[in-house]
Amino acid sequence: MRRRSLFLVGFLAITVRAGALDPIQKPLAGKIILLDPGHAVKNEAGAIINPGARARHGAYERDVALKVAAKIVPLLEAQGAKVYMTRTPDNPWRYARVKSADNRARAIMSNVLRAQAYVRIHCDWNRSRSFKGYTTYYYRWGSRELAKSIRQAFVQRLPTHRDNGIHRRSFVSVTSRMPAVLVELGLLSNRNEAKDLGSDAYQAILAQAVADGITNYFVQHS
Ligand SMILES: [Zn+2]
Repeated sequence: MRRRSLFLVGFLAITVRAGALDPIQKPLAGKIILLDPGHAVKNEAGAIINPGARARHGAYERDVALKVAAKIVPLLEAQGAKVYMTRTPDNPWRYARVKSADNRARAIMSNVLRAQAYVRIHCDWNRSRSFKGYTTYYYRWGSRELAKSIRQAFVQRLPTHRDNGIHRRSFVSVTSRMPAVLVELGLLSNRNEAKDLGSDAYQAILAQAVADGITNYFVQHS
């Protein structure tokens, strides 16, 4: 009897270890991620209340953010994640009375979904047309490592673009309970960067950078 239970314990130990080392286990298996492509909010009367920035005669921030987010989805899914979006190419508008209520609703959505990461996608605009580059924001201390990981992936994937560093700002999200990061992909007010941001090929690189950053974060922190 004693020998038999020892045998069973040994067998279980081997089985558990084999599971842990399973080479087909994907790094984001079981993870829930919410992507929030910013802007595109209408009020009940159908007027746009949060349009976002626009390049001169060029791309709208809300479109760039949505296209990049849509490109991130299959990359994260390939790593095993379940990915939600606050709006999708088929359903690109959101409705709210005011901007602040909409921001709160997006954060509440991240909590309701029990997401393990909430990543907000935006493009910047600056009065100085020479200003360019990507910027990474977080607010709560528990979001800092995710911000660092996403920024690092941008540095690696976009070696010719300027890194404006990591900054702590409350606009990222006060309400969401999981690591939350907001990325400004680049400047729509800068002529060259606006051209890049509007291009499908550059959007694919940006998507890859965000996906790398999220994946590396979970590989290191779970
Ligand atoms: Zn924005």
